[in-house]
Amino acid sequence: MKVVTVVGARPQFIKAAVVSHELRKKHTEVLVHTGQHFDYNMSQQFFDELDIPAPDYNLGISGGTHSQMTGKMMMAIEEVLLKEKPDWLLVYGDTNSTLAAALAAAKLHIKICHVEAGARTHSMTNPEEINRICTDHVASLLLVSTGSGCDELAKEGLQDRSYLVGDPMFDAFREYSGRVKTEDMQLQLLSGALASVPERYYYLTCHREENTNDDKELLEILRACEMLDAPTVYPVHPRNKQRAKRLRNEHKLDKVILTEPVGYLESLSLVRNALKIITDSGGLQREAFFAGKKCVTILDFVCWPETMIDGRNELSHADADEITEKLKHEQRIDVNYQPFGDGYASEKIVEMMEKQMEV
Ligand code: UDP
Repeated sequence: MKVVTVVGARPQFIKAAVVSHELRKKHTEVLVHTGQHFDYNMSQQFFDELDIPAPDYNLGISGGTHSQMTGKMMMAIEEVLLKEKPDWLLVYGDTNSTLAAALAAAKLHIKICHVEAGARTHSMTNPEEINRICTDHVASLLLVSTGSGCDELAKEGLQDRSYLVGDPMFDAFREYSGRVKTEDMQLQLLSGALASVPERYYYLTCHREENTNDDKELLEILRACEMLDAPTVYPVHPRNKQRAKRLRNEHKLDKVILTEPVGYLESLSLVRNALKIITDSGGLQREAFFAGKKCVTILDFVCWPETMIDGRNELSHADADEITEKLKHEQRIDVNYQPFGDGYASEKIVEMMEKQMEV
């Protein structure tokens, strides 16, 4: 089986790490990096740390409007697909790279396998929602992380092509947790200085357009951190680095520790040792859940309904009082409740592609 895998963004590198290792045991994979994330600590660091095979193609496409980026990617990916003639296109999640690759492959009648299919926020102002829906509707094999994803696909008439395999992010969490650095972890601050991770801290990630395009929302989120009983470690995504730095300085938010983006192993360590987690990331919500950490999600919509149980993950507006109040709520953990699979999603993903070769 020959598979072209297209990745472009941080969460896709993590999923590709576990699936690629499995896939390459028996099959040929051609890895394409669109270039959507390009800074060292958003891209190459993941390839190095997680032993992801070097991309066969790096398309170097990033920036511009959503349509500009998606259009350029489609043209470049089409060339790769025409040259490589794969049995499958494999894509993950919901980025512009996912959609561009899926559309290019669909027009060439190449079978598409979509991992993390069926995730829905029911918010069309969330740019990734469009990517998810369109990709699911042109894909031939929909591999789903959780039961709610299967329900969503059934509502859209796609049940015949959907299979529950579990979440490769959970596979990665289990596989790489053993390797996390826990002692003397040094953070590279945005000022360039180095600092140790405090003993007690909250972990914040926040980069969605909805929370970072204006000062108002991000300032409320940072003010919430300033009100907490311990500092907050906040690795800042390149897209909102300047704003976060300026707001912290202007408003003297000394309890917010702004750092460069950290690698995946450092991020796992931050999750596992944090007091609690504040985020707008789909991936971090799930990792908080895997690690049993209370999470407050600053979004208007639910991404992973399975995490919103027993006070384990609560939505909040970008409002300092609401965030701090919700962080205080107790959670209850039922250790037998594991809706993200058994940690072997990667194997099932490869098996499903093998089985569906002739369909
Ligand atoms: N992450 C990381 N370094 C950071 C912040 C996050 O490695 O500085 C990891 C995090 O642990 C999770 C993933 O990146 O595994 C989430 O990616 P992101 O928030 O970019 O995407 P989303 O989950 O929102 O699609």
